[in-house]
Amino acid sequence: MRKGTLYIFTGPSGAGKGTLLARLLQEDDRLFLSVSATTRGPRPGEQDGVHYYFLSREEFDRRVQENAFLEHATYVGNSYGTLEAPVDDKLREGLDVILEIEVQGAMQVKRKRPDAVLVFIAPPSFEELAARLRGRGTESEEKVQKRLKTAREEMRQQDAFDHIVVNDQIDRAVRELHGILAARRT
Ligand code: ADP
Ligand code: 5GP
Repeated sequence: MRKGTLYIFTGPSGAGKGTLLARLLQEDDRLFLSVSATTRGPRPGEQDGVHYYFLSREEFDRRVQENAFLEHATYVGNSYGTLEAPVDDKLREGLDVILEIEVQGAMQVKRKRPDAVLVFIAPPSFEELAARLRGRGTESEEKVQKRLKTAREEMRQQDAFDHIVVNDQIDRAVRELHGILAARRT
């Protein structure tokens, strides 16, 4: 069976990665979204094993020691990482796998898996990014400020990506993403 393709979706917090991915997953049954591990606490409504594996610092560090992560990075004070085994299982099954990760992790995966396709989800403007992040209402103003500071650094690294998709309108951006996936399947 043909192996699946590994996709990495990166972009500043609030750009709309989660929103676009939810649509893609609904509309494409050959996609699998990797569930990351993190030391950050769950937001209201987030479930362990569904949105993330919520790990203590000790559990996370143990998996780093065991070499269980394809990549891992620190983002605004917390650790995040992709467990390697489930990703490879799904690729072997012929599914396309999406990692929704930040930029340092994306660069680690690119080095280890040069055939991975890197997609940067960009906001239409920095002002719109700030408005979306505040509008989501999931972070304190202090955390929003830290995420926006990180966002400026992330936006400078866009050119290292294979595709840059501007999330101006959800339907248009989703169409563009379907096109990127389809191009690899022919
Ligand atoms: P990310 O996963 O990149 O942090 P989210 O998907 O949580 O971002 O989106 C951040 C906020 O912006 C959410 O409140 C979402 O509803 C909103 N949003 C996402 N895409 C758009 C868009 N194209 N236009 C306007 N608002 C959007
Ligand atoms: P959030 O706390 O908003 O869920 O995620 C914060 C940032 O961490 C986002 O940019 C998200 O893409 C990134 N992230 C989520 N999971 C992983 C992961 O497994 N590895 C890396 N490197 N980043 C991740």
